[in-house]
Amino acid sequence: MITEYSHYLEPMKVYIPITDDEYKIANVVVAGGDAVKIGQILAYKFKGKHKLPVVATVSGKVIEIVDKMDRFGKIVNHVVIENDEAYTLDDIPSYKDEVSTAEARKAIERAGLHKVDVDGLFTNLNFEEPIKHVVVSTVFVNEPFISTNYEYLLDNAPEIIDGVAILASAAATKDVTIVADKFLPSEVVDELGKAIVDHDLEEPIFVDTKKVKGWDYKVIQDITKEQLSPNVLDNGVLYVHANTCKMISDVVRKGFPVVSRNVAFTGDGLHKNVVMDVRVGTLLSEVVEELGGYIEQQELNLHIGNYLTGVQVPTDDFAITESVDAVHISIYDEVQEDVCIKCGECNDVCPAGILPQNIMDAELRAVGERIFDLHTDECVECGLCSYVCPSKINVLEWVRRAKRRVG
Ligand code: SF4
Ligand code: SF4
Repeated sequence: MITEYSHYLEPMKVYIPITDDEYKIANVVVAGGDAVKIGQILAYKFKGKHKLPVVATVSGKVIEIVDKMDRFGKIVNHVVIENDEAYTLDDIPSYKDEVSTAEARKAIERAGLHKVDVDGLFTNLNFEEPIKHVVVSTVFVNEPFISTNYEYLLDNAPEIIDGVAILASAAATKDVTIVADKFLPSEVVDELGKAIVDHDLEEPIFVDTKKVKGWDYKVIQDITKEQLSPNVLDNGVLYVHANTCKMISDVVRKGFPVVSRNVAFTGDGLHKNVVMDVRVGTLLSEVVEELGGYIEQQELNLHIGNYLTGVQVPTDDFAITESVDAVHISIYDEVQEDVCIKCGECNDVCPAGILPQNIMDAELRAVGERIFDLHTDECVECGLCSYVCPSKINVLEWVRRAKRRVG
């Protein structure tokens, strides 16, 4: 259970990965010994013809460029910067009034904001294809551990909603849906409500976050009235988190690059569970030390991102980036899978309306045609089928294998 909200913003060194799982080639434009400011471009990363900047999150001196594991578990180049604790900002343009579509896109791109929300149905900040709807979640989800950081919403409501409006401008659409937790305290609803009225946006949709039932899938399906693709950008939906909208507002209004990320640190492997604002580039090992270290003499599982669909990593020696919203550290517990008892719970819970048990069965028997007929490609990898399975079968993994077979 989350017991505290805090921050860790003054590491002595930051490690900035210069590629990610999509932009795999990079060109570094700084060298060891260079002085850099916050927001200064360190490298450009490339995916085909597309180019994105990678920026510094502290001011100081570039010490070296090293190979290190990133948050996706891959070894990549990192620019290491020694923090001079002056926190000097690079000169980045900012906008006071309404921003045009071109200005909003340019500012978001200059800040290197592209891949922020990586789990579940969330999408990249990608404006290449036409966007019909912008959907923003103010719920902090780590299913089955769902929580809403009320304080964050209360403290940042004007910036979050300003970011929503800027994002709508960047997406060139007026169709915006804000999703909120129906258990929000009234003072938070009031603060969000005031900002929503100021920006002339629609009232939020309230969802019951106590039910682990792929609620965001249902919200987006109701909006589009379409069968959803695993990447809802294909349905013309840009879906991001409130935290990303606050980052967008900071970038556009203050010329303030993304230097920190709110991360939920949960699990019985830690002495306390907190939501912490962490400087991008800080090593996870350093944050854990700040949290009082691990529960000792236990074998631990380290999980990055959404509990059901995130990635397992072998070590804490990697940097928190803007796309890390949750870290779950739990005492290792060997799970014994039982046989499938054909209870049908996985089929009932699937928000995409497909039949994961039948897909698993078809995959076990390697019947490619049946896998195809079962619309396996419509799985959005929410992980709910594995979560509800009484036999503790990793159903999602079978569905993923089936997808690969016909993909
Ligand atoms: S098959 Fe499983 S992981 Fe895929 S959408 Fe359905 S419940 Fe989610
Ligand atoms: S929930 Fe588990 S036991 Fe039940 S049908 Fe699905 S795979 Fe089989």
